[in-house]
Amino acid sequence: MIPAQFDYLAPTTVEEALAALAQHGDEAKILAGGQSLLPVLRMRLNAPEMVIDLGKITSLRGVRDDGDAIVVGAMTQHSVVGSDPLVAEHAALVSKAVEHLADVQIRHRGTFGGALAHADPAGDLGAPALALGAQFVIQGPGGTRTVPAEEFFVDLFETAIGEDEILTEVRLPKHTGWGAHYEKFVRVAHQWPIVAVAAAVRLEGGTIAEARVGLTNMGNTPVRAHAVEQALVGQPATPDGVRDAAARAAEGTNPPSDLNGDADYRRHLATVLTRRAVLTAAGATG
Ligand SMILES: Cc1cc2nc3c(=O)[nH]c(=O)nc-3n(C[C@H](O)[C@H](O)[C@H](O)COP(=O)(O)OP(=O)(O)OC[C@H]3O[C@@H](n4cnc5c(N)ncnc54)[C@H](O)[C@@H]3O)c2cc1C
Repeated sequence: MIPAQFDYLAPTTVEEALAALAQHGDEAKILAGGQSLLPVLRMRLNAPEMVIDLGKITSLRGVRDDGDAIVVGAMTQHSVVGSDPLVAEHAALVSKAVEHLADVQIRHRGTFGGALAHADPAGDLGAPALALGAQFVIQGPGGTRTVPAEEFFVDLFETAIGEDEILTEVRLPKHTGWGAHYEKFVRVAHQWPIVAVAAAVRLEGGTIAEARVGLTNMGNTPVRAHAVEQALVGQPATPDGVRDAAARAAEGTNPPSDLNGDADYRRHLATVLTRRAVLTAAGATG
C-alpha cells in the first residue's frame, strides 16, 4: 500500500529537528532507517502529517570511546555497530546480537537508536542493552537527560522518550574481557526471535565471577534475568554448574502467547536458551 500523504523535513542538526517536533507536536513522526516506520506508514497504521528525517544529522552517527563507556550515535546503522572494533572489544554482547538481527539489507538501513526507540519486545537490541546496563541519552526542548535501561523500556512499543524528544546516543558501559553470546530461537531465518537470550559472563579461572543476562520477547519489555545472574556467581562454567541457574530464567517474566508458541513454551525455551547462551559466552559447550 501507499502511505497517506505527509510533509517531509530533513534537518541537519538536532536543534532543528527538535524545533520541528515542537512545531508539529503529535502530528509529527521521526524517521531513522525507516525499517519499522515505513511498513507502519504503508499499512496506514499511522498517518503523520510531518515526517522528520534524521538521516542528514551527521552528529548522530558513529561509535566513540568515552572512558568507561562506548557511545553509539542513535543514527548509526546496525551494520556499522556490528562491525565496529570498539563495540566488539568492550560491548561484545551487542556485536553478537547484531549478527542475528534481520538480514543484510535491513542491517544497512536500520539504526541502533531507531530499533531501541521502536521498543518492539521481539527486537534483538533491548535485551543486550539492558543486560549491559546501557544509558540512553535523550535530548528535548529542556536540554539533555540520561535514562538507565531499566527505566527506558516502559511498555510494548513504548519508551521513556517524550513526544518532543529525540534519542541521540546510547552509552554502553565497558565489559572488556567478558565472554558474550546471543542465543536466538527463530522459526524463519532473518526474523524476530520467538525468544532470545543475551548473556555476558566474567570468568575467574573456570568460575563465573559475574553474569549479566537479558531476555527478549519474555514480556512487554526486555527482561533482566536477575535470579539467573545471582545463581551463576561462584558456579563453574560447565553444563552441570550452569543448569540450575538457567532453570530460573523464566522467573518474574510474563511471556506472550501467539501463533509461534504459548507462554509455557516460551518459559521452557528461556531456560534452554539461557543455558546455551551462558555456556557459549563462557567458552564452554553443552
Ligand atoms: C523484514 C524485517 C525484519 C526485521 N527483523 C528484525 C530482527 O530480526 N530483529 C530486530 O531487532 N529487528 C528487526 N527488524 C527491525 C529493524 O531492526 C529496524 O531497523 C528497527 O526496528 C527500526 O530501526 P530504524 O532505524 O529503521 O527506525 P525507523 O523505522 O525509522 O523508526 C522506528 C521508530 O522509532 C522512532 N525513532 C527512530 N529513531 C528515533 C530517535 N533517534 N529518537 C526518537 N524516536 C526515534 C520512529 O519515530 C519510529 O516510531 C526487522 C525489520 C524488517 C522490515
